[in-house]
Amino acid sequence: MTYLPDTDFTQRFIFDDSDARGELVALERSYAEVLAKHAYPEPVAQLLGELMAAAALLVGTLKFDGLLVLQARSEGPVPLLMIECSSDREIRGLARYDAERIAPDATLADLMPNGVLALTVDPTHGQRYQGIVDLDGATLAECFTNYFVMSQQVGTRFWLHADGRRARGLLLQQLPADRLKDEEERAASWQHITALGGTLTADELLSLDNETVLHRLYHEEAVRLFDVQPLRFRCSCSRERSGNALVSLGLEDAQKLVVEHGGSIEIDCQFCNERYLFDAADISQLFAGAGVDSPSDTRH
Ligand SMILES: [Zn+2]
Repeated sequence: MTYLPDTDFTQRFIFDDSDARGELVALERSYAEVLAKHAYPEPVAQLLGELMAAAALLVGTLKFDGLLVLQARSEGPVPLLMIECSSDREIRGLARYDAERIAPDATLADLMPNGVLALTVDPTHGQRYQGIVDLDGATLAECFTNYFVMSQQVGTRFWLHADGRRARGLLLQQLPADRLKDEEERAASWQHITALGGTLTADELLSLDNETVLHRLYHEEAVRLFDVQPLRFRCSCSRERSGNALVSLGLEDAQKLVVEHGGSIEIDCQFCNERYLFDAADISQLFAGAGVDSPSDTRH
């Protein structure tokens, strides 16, 4: 499947007369692929889209090589929302939910009461890092904004919206003092830029292209918009990884599972619904350290 850069991308912009930057994200095909794997109720599909938009914005903001994992957990009707986005800009995600307890107009607080949001950066080299914030904002965007306040990082604001077809987001972030040396002037400029950002409606963000959004918000500012950076859906599961999970069970338990399940173990990927089957011969081969080669090893 080819991904046109105009359906799934982030795009940075910078203010020439202020110490601030911004980024916009638009996701359509990758969002559709995530939603296609499960029959998500509308409010869950919306939250998933918002979390995808956040992940795409964060992957360009946190400078790292590896994997960014966003997990929202609760004991409510949506126990889990999870998005993974790699620094190679490949994204996947899923949600667990109890459809019977989800009203069509359910809010974040209804769906994930007393929840937490965990942001994990798993770098290819170096130490894994995790930050956690309570899901006590009215929206996921507010929770991400709170996260940056709590972790005492530079001023950062998020706006996230999704409607089951498009997932969009806007991020504004303060830069170190450079153009504006005076502290008061700097604070006033940040206040001005974020107040304007706050006037953007969900409908506008979901329907307007980036140039129009920036003109609508900042036609009185000097703003430079950079080239788009594409993203795409891709699941990182593989037959090899599923095999490794079986190896970690130990030979005896793996063999027992094969017998209990009528001759083969089935491992389903929750992110992409790919199914990996292992029979007794596969298990023997796995534990012999030979690895598993099979024409059914689907990479996508
Ligand atoms: Zn998968």
